[in-house]
Amino acid sequence: MMNDVPVIQAAHHLPATNNESTTKNHQPLPGPAAPTMNQPNRTELSALGEFGLIDRLTQGVQLYHPETRKGIGDDAAVLDLGGPQLTVVTTDMLLEGVHFDLSYAPLPHVGYKAVAVNISDIAAMNAIPKQITVNIAVSNRFSVEALEALYAGINSACAEYKVDLVGGDTTSSRSGLVISVTAIGQVEKDKIVYRSGAQPNDILCVTGDLGAAYVGLQIMEREKQVYLANPDMQPQLEGKDYLIQRQLKPLARMDVVHELRELAVQPTAMMDVSDGLASEILHICKSSAVGATLYEDKLPIDGVTYTTAGEMQLDPTTCALNGGEDYELLFTIRQSEYEKLKNHPDVFFIGYINEAAKGINLITKNENRVPVRAQGWAHF
Ligand code: ADP
Ligand code: MG
Repeated sequence: MMNDVPVIQAAHHLPATNNESTTKNHQPLPGPAAPTMNQPNRTELSALGEFGLIDRLTQGVQLYHPETRKGIGDDAAVLDLGGPQLTVVTTDMLLEGVHFDLSYAPLPHVGYKAVAVNISDIAAMNAIPKQITVNIAVSNRFSVEALEALYAGINSACAEYKVDLVGGDTTSSRSGLVISVTAIGQVEKDKIVYRSGAQPNDILCVTGDLGAAYVGLQIMEREKQVYLANPDMQPQLEGKDYLIQRQLKPLARMDVVHELRELAVQPTAMMDVSDGLASEILHICKSSAVGATLYEDKLPIDGVTYTTAGEMQLDPTTCALNGGEDYELLFTIRQSEYEKLKNHPDVFFIGYINEAAKGINLITKNENRVPVRAQGWAHF
C-alpha cells in the first residue's frame, strides 16, 4: 500500500483568496465578543464533544421557510420543493491528517471516499442520490497530476452511484488537503425514513459487517510506524486486503436501498454507521424516544476483523460497537416485515427496540446486561 502513494511534485501555486474587502456589511453582529484564551468563561471544545458542540452552536437556529421539512438532526436535511418527491441535502468534509493520511491513502481513494460518505447519508434517508458539489482546498505541495488522481476517484464514485458533479469551489490551503462534498438526493414522500420513527418491538437491523474499517486503520497506522522507524521494512499487509479496502474505499449501501424497495420493506427509522454502531443506536433511540436491546452474539463481524483485532489486542466487539467508518445502514423494521428480509444475506438482526424506560442495553455473550455508551468521537 505504501508504494501506491502518488508522487507529489511542487508546481502550480494557487493565489490566496481574500474576498473580505468586497463584503459590504454595515450591520454589527449580535452577541458578546468571543472570549479570549485568558478569559474565565472559555469552554474547551473537549467539554462538549462533537454532538454537544453542534447542539450548542445550532440552538439559536431558526427556520424561515415552510419548504424546510427537517433541518439539523438527521443524516440529511429534507426539503419539500413541491411535487411528489422530497429533496435531501447532506455535506461532509474530509481533512488531511484528521480523516486521511496520504502516506497510506492513495488520492483516488480519498476522492472516492469523500463522495461515498455523502452518498451514504443520502442512502440513510432511503433516498436516491442525484447531484454533488465538491470543494477543495489545496497547497502547492500537490501537483496538477496529483489532483487529477483525486478527481479520478471522485469521477469513479459518480459513475458508481450515478450522480452528477455539478459544481464546487477551489481554494488554497496552508495546512494540507481539504475536500468537502455536498450531495443532493430525492425520495418519494411516502418512502422517506428519519431517525425518529422507531417504536417498541421494532427489530434492529444492520447491513454488512462492522469494525473492519477501524481495524484496517489500526493496521495501516501500525505499518506506518514500522516504516518510519525503518524504511527498509516491507509493510505486513498480507491477508488484510478486506480490512484496508473497508478503510480506504468504503461503499455506500445504495444496493440495500434499492433492495428494500424491491422487497417493499419500509424501515421505520434509519441512519448510516459512520461514528460507530453504539453511537448510532443512541441517536436513533434519542430521536425516536425509545430504548433498545442489542445482542453481542448477533453483531456481524467478519472473520478477518475478528482474528486481526485479536492479534492487535483489540476486542472485536468494541471495534464493532465503537470503531466507526463502516458506512453500513442501521435501521428498524416492524415485526411484520421480518419475513420479507429474513433470507437477505447481508441484513443482520441484532436486537429490538424497547420502551425508553428500559434503557439501551447490550446483552453480552455471557448474558450480562450492560448499558450501551458511545465511546466514539474524540477529535478535539
Ligand atoms: P452524519 O454523521 O450523518 O454526517 P453529523 O453527526 O455530522 O451527521 O451531523 C449531525 C447533524 O448536525 C446533521 O443534521 C448535520 O447537518 C448537522 N451539523 C453538523 N455540523 C454542523 C454545523 N457546523 N452547523 C450546522 N449543522 C451542523
Ligand atoms: Mg449519517
